[in-house]
Amino acid sequence: DMHLPASPSLARSSAVPVRYQGGSLEVSDLSMAYGALKVLHGINLTIKPGTVTCIIGPSGSGKSTLLRCLNRLVEPSDGDILLDGDSIFKFKPEHLRRRVGMVFQQFNLFPDHTALGNVALALRKVKRMPKDEAYKIAAARLAEVGLAERMHHRPSHLSGGQQQRVAIARALAMNPEVMLFDEVTSALDPELVKGVLQLMARLGESGMTMVVVTHEMNFARKVADQVVFMDEGRVVEAGRPDDLFDNPQSSRLKRFLSQVL
Ligand code: ADP
Ligand code: MG
Repeated sequence: DMHLPASPSLARSSAVPVRYQGGSLEVSDLSMAYGALKVLHGINLTIKPGTVTCIIGPSGSGKSTLLRCLNRLVEPSDGDILLDGDSIFKFKPEHLRRRVGMVFQQFNLFPDHTALGNVALALRKVKRMPKDEAYKIAAARLAEVGLAERMHHRPSHLSGGQQQRVAIARALAMNPEVMLFDEVTSALDPELVKGVLQLMARLGESGMTMVVVTHEMNFARKVADQVVFMDEGRVVEAGRPDDLFDNPQSSRLKRFLSQVL
């Protein structure tokens, strides 16, 4: 396992030089409806390996639904999604979700397990890993997100930011090629947001492919390779952050930016 530190002492260092092999995603003509309510209308998106794509847009524009389509928490009505060239609809959803990890606004940790236990449990359940190996990898992942000192604490004894980093470590433990983040800092107290965003920025620099739904415009500007602006179930504009933020083309993006910046 290329992500495993060579020694326990290395795992304790916060400067573990982890590298990831991010995968590519190609979304074509993707449409999705909840019953009669059509919420995505022909989305096209190219996400290159090892890049960070930030999705911005007003509430209800379909950002979460698009993210959920990418790891098949919901099924589209039309279109296709390729992961490294293969349609994700050929895989079993549970296999896909090892390759495409997701982190949510709510941390969804088990309250009766420690941080270490939460990450190890996921490895044992999803990857059917033996206990020793699961704990070893879980410890390395928690060190990677800066929680080596806190891994024996239960969620209630961790800050919201630390809990969210446990959730990120849990997703990373599956060795994903793509990480999806849905407003992961929205529920955090303001002083805890920065640490989580810094971790995500570092993850982006380390080769992980990331798709990040966020209201943090400074993060999008600084970290994203590509920013996608969605409105009413469509991609209205997509491009480099400087182009989008400094030179918006559509009136809808101009209006959105004037409201959030
Ligand atoms: P965003 O994440 O941009 O706020 P969502 O993808 O959550 O947007 O929602 C897009 C649209 O789909 C909204 O109109 C929302 O009300 C609707 N929607 C979201 N989830 C469901 C659901 N589970 N059932 C029915 N409608 C939903
Ligand atoms: Mg949402």
